[in-house]
Amino acid sequence: MQDIFENTILCKHCNKKMLPEQITRKGFILRTLKCEPCKNLIVHPEDLKEYENFQSLNKKTFKVKLRYVGNSYAVSIPREIIDFMNEQEKQTNEMVNLSMDEFDRISLIFRR
Ligand SMILES: [Zn+2]
Repeated sequence: MQDIFENTILCKHCNKKMLPEQITRKGFILRTLKCEPCKNLIVHPEDLKEYENFQSLNKKTFKVKLRYVGNSYAVSIPREIIDFMNEQEKQTNEMVNLSMDEFDRISLIFRR
């Protein structure tokens, strides 16, 4: 299927050709088309949809239980987070990086 951004798109305000540009929001790379004179910005519909899915997850706080397993503790990561990560990465990454960010905060890094 053809990507709509492969076409020439004119700004509805200035009638000038909009130019491709990538922007980053919270780790997301969004494909955009920008009109330089008036700064009109169009985000690629697919990227926008994924970003909106992320935002709905981003707003949630999950209560998960700390369980003792062997000599370590384990928490369950909600399925919807893993499903979302898999959708982004297109594959399951079994190894994640874990670090203690602050005295009361731990981060899991899913990207290689
Ligand atoms: Zn414009």
